[in-house]
Amino acid sequence: MADADALVIGSGPNGLVAANVLADAGWSVVVLEAEPDPGGAVRSGEITEPGFTHDRFSAFYPLAAVSPPLRRLGLEAHGLKWRRAPLVLGHPTPDGKTAVVADDLDVTAAALDAYAPGDGAAWEATYREWQRLGTDLVAALLSPFPPVRAGARLAARLGPRGALRFGRFSLLPVRRFGEETFTGAGGQLLLAGLALHTDLGPDSAAGAVFGWLLACLGQEHGFPVPEGGSGNLTAALVRRLESRGGVIRCDARVTRIEVRAGRAVGATCADGTSFSAARAVLADTGAPTLYRDLVGAEHLPGDLLDALSEFQYDHGTFKVDWALSGPVPWTAEPLRRAGTVHLADSMDDLTHYVAQLATDHVPERPFLIVGQLTTADPTRSPAGTETLWGYTHVPTRVRGDAGGGITGQWDDAETQAFADRIEAEIERRAPGFRSLVRARHVLAPPGLEAADANLVGGAINGGTAQLHQQLVLRPTPGLGRAETPLRGLYLASASAHPGGGVHGACGANAARAALAAERRGRFVRALGGR
Ligand SMILES: Cc1cc2nc3c(=O)[nH]c(=O)nc-3n(C[C@H](O)[C@H](O)[C@H](O)COP(=O)(O)OP(=O)(O)OC[C@H]3O[C@@H](n4cnc5c(N)ncnc54)[C@H](O)[C@@H]3O)c2cc1C
Repeated sequence: MADADALVIGSGPNGLVAANVLADAGWSVVVLEAEPDPGGAVRSGEITEPGFTHDRFSAFYPLAAVSPPLRRLGLEAHGLKWRRAPLVLGHPTPDGKTAVVADDLDVTAAALDAYAPGDGAAWEATYREWQRLGTDLVAALLSPFPPVRAGARLAARLGPRGALRFGRFSLLPVRRFGEETFTGAGGQLLLAGLALHTDLGPDSAAGAVFGWLLACLGQEHGFPVPEGGSGNLTAALVRRLESRGGVIRCDARVTRIEVRAGRAVGATCADGTSFSAARAVLADTGAPTLYRDLVGAEHLPGDLLDALSEFQYDHGTFKVDWALSGPVPWTAEPLRRAGTVHLADSMDDLTHYVAQLATDHVPERPFLIVGQLTTADPTRSPAGTETLWGYTHVPTRVRGDAGGGITGQWDDAETQAFADRIEAEIERRAPGFRSLVRARHVLAPPGLEAADANLVGGAINGGTAQLHQQLVLRPTPGLGRAETPLRGLYLASASAHPGGGVHGACGANAARAALAAERRGRFVRALGGR
């Protein structure tokens, strides 16, 4: 008898959502996780000082809050509680103003009007468009490609002319959309910073729709965080799975997927332990790892291997966590209430930043995404202190440093030097910040990958979000769904459509593909086929 109906390799949010969906269908599920604890890039812990809970990777979950696959799991009944900061997002500019997203639409509009009268109304107009389309758009984006039902609903809402205009909008770079929509810098920068939660710079095609989507999600739902730490989102997924009989085995790094007669039938771990799967194997791993390392070229068609050689990871990431003895003393007052803060002086600075990344140079003035976790969730650190989180991107392969002598070796000296550069960006907007630092924990790309093998070279989204690796082209042309060339094997990670972020859709899509294949198999057998 097999060890389980399904094996899930990896317990990131996608792996755990996949496991839950299968368990709900009555399948027995074993999740094999390489690390000592489950959660992938959704884990938290006291990594600086006791009493300070840090999100070791991801922190803000607007996608999780609206994702149909995650919402269907009802994680609140398994202990998940969302918390939100008083202000969703702030982006200060050198003229002393601050562009914000607040849950009150009037507050967002007033902040943008301060940059140019009329920009508030422009935001309200584009947000109204979101209110009309958002639910269907999110459902379409998170469904397997092509999104037949949600896509049809969206098309019906848009009408033929609206569909063409929306098609144009979907391709726009965020700089262009910002210029078409706002007169002042505030609205433009807000959206451009949000597009850079992926690797879409101001001039990348399709950057506008990502920026707009995240801004509108922020406006409607805030950027919620799990009370007590990101690990509590994972804990709720684990509790739910275990309550349905699912099993998670940690310290179980899969090194091989067993293949028999073109079908995935099990997995073997680094310590030699093997597990068999009666129905399916789902891989919450990067696509190149799944095919090249776990399956092996001998089981795969040559055109897939050729296409994989073109697979592109997103940029590397450099992350810092701080334990602060007090809140960040931002000069711009609204930032003191914001959960998320973006730091870049102008759209042109963002373009310089992505140009440095594109030319494999460590950025001189890194664009920062900063999270004030105690501001969002007071349980994260003792009263009066702050748990601060921040990251920026660095090139995957470093050819030079636009701001000093970093070579990309990321030894301790280079890692601390770049963390100092990041701190200088905060200090510039919050004089006295450095004197509040009680402890800091720094992860350069090799450290991120060592803690989660999917974060290859520090890539956080399982592959670039650029248009050439989206939708039907993700992870490779011809493999735009969770199904793989092997029967019973499914790609469940962010390397699959719809990509990075904590929404669980890649995992849910893979689980549904496995369930559908099983149903098709039963139907064929009932008809007397094999
Ligand atoms: C620093 C950082 C900040 C981020 N911020 C946000 C944010 O604020 N909001 C947001 O929505 N998203 C954010 N993200 C992105 C988000 O976390 C990821 O897109 C998401 O976690 C992807 O989920 P996953 O399940 O595909 O992979 P992962 O979360 O990476 O999980 C993969 C799991 O598989 C395991 N694994 C890999 N190989 C094997 C193997 N061979 N055998 C067994 N187990 C294996 C890994 O150990 C890991 O546990 C961030 C990511 C990072 C790194």
